[in-house]
Amino acid sequence: MTRSASDVLIVGGGPAGLYAGLQLARAGHGVDLVEEHREFGSPVHCTGVLARDAFDVFDLPAGSLLNELRQVRFVAPSGAAVDYTTPTTEAVVIDRVRFDRQLADEAQRAGVRFHQGRVTDVSVDRAGVRATTAETTFRARATLLACGASYGLQRKLGLGLPKLLLQSAQAEIPADRPGDVEVHFGAAAAPRGFAWAVPVHRSDRPYVRIGVMCQSRAADHFHAMVERLRTRWGVAAPEGLTPRQKVLPLAPIDRTYAERVLVLGDAAGLVKPTTGGGIYYGLLSARLAAETWNAIKAEPWSLAVSDRIPWARRLWPATDYHHMLGGSGAQGVGYAAPAALGVGLANKAKGLFTVTFQPDGDLMYSPGILWTAAYHKIPVLFVMHNNRAYHQEIMHLQRMAAIHGRRPDQAWIGNVIDNPAIDYAKLAQAQGVWAEGPIEDPAKLGAALQRAVAVVKKGGPALVDVVCQGR
Ligand SMILES: Cc1cc2nc3c(=O)[nH]c(=O)nc-3n(C[C@H](O)[C@H](O)[C@H](O)COP(=O)(O)OP(=O)(O)OC[C@H]3O[C@@H](n4cnc5c(N)ncnc54)[C@H](O)[C@@H]3O)c2cc1C
Repeated sequence: MTRSASDVLIVGGGPAGLYAGLQLARAGHGVDLVEEHREFGSPVHCTGVLARDAFDVFDLPAGSLLNELRQVRFVAPSGAAVDYTTPTTEAVVIDRVRFDRQLADEAQRAGVRFHQGRVTDVSVDRAGVRATTAETTFRARATLLACGASYGLQRKLGLGLPKLLLQSAQAEIPADRPGDVEVHFGAAAAPRGFAWAVPVHRSDRPYVRIGVMCQSRAADHFHAMVERLRTRWGVAAPEGLTPRQKVLPLAPIDRTYAERVLVLGDAAGLVKPTTGGGIYYGLLSARLAAETWNAIKAEPWSLAVSDRIPWARRLWPATDYHHMLGGSGAQGVGYAAPAALGVGLANKAKGLFTVTFQPDGDLMYSPGILWTAAYHKIPVLFVMHNNRAYHQEIMHLQRMAAIHGRRPDQAWIGNVIDNPAIDYAKLAQAQGVWAEGPIEDPAKLGAALQRAVAVVKKGGPALVDVVCQGR
């Protein structure tokens, strides 16, 4: 059977695919999503530890939240332990099955059409994307690969594999006396990785999620971790317990995009490299893909300074020379703003839409370019990457401090642009440039970008001040 073409076909219904589908459907696109399993969220391989703020940042359904985590014990190979308590609740444990199902319900309500099947092939031709399962051929204008840590389709499309993969094994087991989170290091516990135990409080009784990520023999290291905790935590591991095993990406694939193809979440290897945690990053990449692309996709876009914000290079499908115009070729601060203005001037006559991600420190070298842009009516969309510091310098000084045995915390001195934070929207408005911000709530970003795009299309500059995290 061949289905009629949709705007976007999503392969995989984990957090990344479901969230991207939800955002795209809400923005009015026709979305088909193909998931190989009958039910979303199962089988579970994940420990489900998630940053508390993810629920606010991504406006997630909170019904999957099980318990909070505030204490962690790091155990060295010698057995010596260090305890750490966070001042506020930064992490929670979720029920992954419920989490995925709630996301699926929301996506379906927003209009995403679900199909069951395993996509075995994806190809791109002039008419768009073609994806096949055993029974159906799907056609779409674009596809998002959100198929988790399975890399057959990426390999076929020439996108490569994650540079680093580890094995993992995990299970949730009843436990009478679960303690605080424990993380065990060392070759005996988990070569090149770590083993963990996370307390889980369900309404019927307490459990523990025991897991391990390591280079080899994940199941053996899992069982050893169970034995380490059995008596202390009262772990009731049933006879013949088999953990769920899965490969875990710890680095991105070579390229996360191709013509009409964008790769998200674990499928792109977008995870926290220290822990392999990928729910947050999967949602983030899904959101960035949907939101930024939404704002500019209909325009003949041109990214003026494309060497500073790597995710744009990875996510946006550059197919023409004017799409990505590179950078200074050096690391000079103060280049980005005037360079973007020059690009905007050149692009104006060509009818191209100029967008640039503007670092905050960089703009302070020549803030007057905003006046020049307003005076000469040069259409440029400045999206402020406002992390309130010269972070490049901070990272360099931290690295130097590590090499020379100096105090790394002093890297911040003289490099922070805060207290008071600069209001870049006011700076722009004062010079006659349309501006909004500072935007600290990601939910407000999409609409602000749309308004700014409308201003630039009318022929003038616009600036959206986006407050970003430091690295
Ligand atoms: C042991 C372990 C513990 C973890 N613990 C945590 C944690 O505590 N916190 C955290 O943030 N992250 C954790 N992670 C990582 C987290 O599980 C992933 O980052 C997250 O699930 C990625 O979401 P995703 O949507 O990209 O992929 P997935 O959740 O893997 O979803 C991909 C979906 O695509 C479907 N699929 C695959 N191929 C196809 C195909 N060809 N056709 C159709 N459907 C397909 C799959 O069935 C699946 O439903 C853990 C991972 C492991 C292995």
